[in-house]
Amino acid sequence: MIVSMKRYATKAEIQSVCDRILDFGYKIHAIEGEERVVIGAVGVGDVTACLESLEALPCVEKAVRISAPYKFVSKEFRTSKTVIRINGGGIEIGGDDFIVMAGPCSVESEKQIMESAHAVVKAGAKVLRGGAFKPRTSPYDFQGLEEEGLKLLRKAKQATGLAIITEIMSDRDVDLVAEYADIMQVGARNMQNFALLKTLGRCQRPVMLKRGMSSTIRELLMSAEYVVAHGNSQVILCERGIRTFETATRNTCDIVAVPVLQEMTHLPVVLDPSHATGKRSLVPALSRAAVAIGADGLILEVHPCPEKAVSDGAQSLHIDEFERMMASLKGYVKLWKESRPAPATV
Ligand code: PEP
Ligand code: MN
Repeated sequence: MIVSMKRYATKAEIQSVCDRILDFGYKIHAIEGEERVVIGAVGVGDVTACLESLEALPCVEKAVRISAPYKFVSKEFRTSKTVIRINGGGIEIGGDDFIVMAGPCSVESEKQIMESAHAVVKAGAKVLRGGAFKPRTSPYDFQGLEEEGLKLLRKAKQATGLAIITEIMSDRDVDLVAEYADIMQVGARNMQNFALLKTLGRCQRPVMLKRGMSSTIRELLMSAEYVVAHGNSQVILCERGIRTFETATRNTCDIVAVPVLQEMTHLPVVLDPSHATGKRSLVPALSRAAVAIGADGLILEVHPCPEKAVSDGAQSLHIDEFERMMASLKGYVKLWKESRPAPATV
């Protein structure tokens, strides 16, 4: 349920409302807002009696039930968009800038990640991607450099100022990866790894949650709810294509998932044109489509020599192709800014 307090309710009044919510057996999840405080609570109890009892208090403006199964990520809970701030607030995802995250699929060597980082920052990316822990279909394929890879990402960050996004595969590695990453990437294969999602809820780093290859939008939101319900409201959602009968592309990009999600949630939504298509020639067109449809950003694969990449070479852009693509996005990003909805006031 959401309880909106009257403007300038006192601390004692807020406390009395919280006490009443707890008496009904609910848990307080979040208290937000300064002038007008909104209290979010979840649990199982007599919701009608609880809402009536709260609305009878003079300090309460409104008490309503959240009908969506995903509570705290729903628009019902918060109408204003969540903005994820990283790099000391220098980068905002979900804010007024279209954010591009780019880099190789896997961190392979110092030379490879440094070349990638220098190239992508020069072309306008704000975040460097690169997997150090790789979820591979075959156990015989390259599994990632693990901590050595994380150290190389840190070096690249120090050299370029780029923020780092990298994949986390297991709840056991959350503390280690959080030491190096600005954003923790949960891959499609782990979207419903609930132990991992709960642990990420207790971690202080923003999380980017990729849609599972056979997951519905509702399931994606329920997974995001796991992270938020366990204490971390900093979640970015990523559409990366789903599996269908079509084989011309690696996955089928559900591009309309972007505005669908934006209707359902206040969380930022980005698109991954690399995994969605599996084919570098299709990446620029899909990237432009992502801007046009109002995504908050992109995450895509770029490699100094895709022919030699240990993973996902076929979908990785060459550096010059990435530069050209970024130039071709400019006009679209200008329109994106002009048509960006004004921030909602709570
Ligand atoms: C990746 O980003 O390299 C990756 C493995 O993506 P996904 O989880 O979407 O397959
Ligand atoms: Mn990849």
